[in-house]
Amino acid sequence: MKSDVVLEESMHLDFLEEIYSIPGGEKIKDCIQCGTCSGSCPTSYVMDYTPRKVFAMIRAGMRDEVLSCNTLWLCTSCYSCYVRCPQDIKITDIMYALKRISIKDGKYPKGSDAQELSKMFTHIVNKYGRNHELELIQRYFLKTKPLKLLQNIPIGLKLLTHGRLPLLPTKIRNISQLQKIIRKAKSLGGF
Ligand code: SF4
Ligand code: SF4
Repeated sequence: MKSDVVLEESMHLDFLEEIYSIPGGEKIKDCIQCGTCSGSCPTSYVMDYTPRKVFAMIRAGMRDEVLSCNTLWLCTSCYSCYVRCPQDIKITDIMYALKRISIKDGKYPKGSDAQELSKMFTHIVNKYGRNHELELIQRYFLKTKPLKLLQNIPIGLKLLTHGRLPLLPTKIRNISQLQKIIRKAKSLGGF
């Protein structure tokens, strides 16, 4: 019984160490649980746990619960929390880091396709230097829900005819520099 408690305690500390090793991650220690992040978050109403709660759970060592919640995947990277946090905690960056750990450990919510979308987005940005929505949508639906692709053709055609969806991708200049950054990010555990 005592060894179970010791093991649990050590796993708790390992998780905290893992989070604190994320650049800016150690700032989580300064969270005062004010809730400004949750109040600023446009998607918190559909999240399993609000950003404030996620930080409390991290400090409580709730690794599996944190890595498997939908919060990470519903974060739209709007940075509202990031700019408003009174403790200067880099919340959005930490959400990204948690997503990476969740994918690495296979903890993302079962049935969720958000991680596929993230991988495809990175693939397209690596190819052109920016997103190409039409290709992203096609790849995403073909891989995850082919029937939805057919259902979305009418709306796609409307967007195309109104010039809201570029047919062809545009490529940035000096893309090799960006590709070098993406390669480096992947070597550090990105996707
Ligand atoms: S806004 Fe910052 S200090 Fe307040 S709960 Fe969120 S992370 Fe913690
Ligand atoms: S960056 Fe993510 S967690 Fe923060 S307010 Fe925006 S959606 Fe919410």
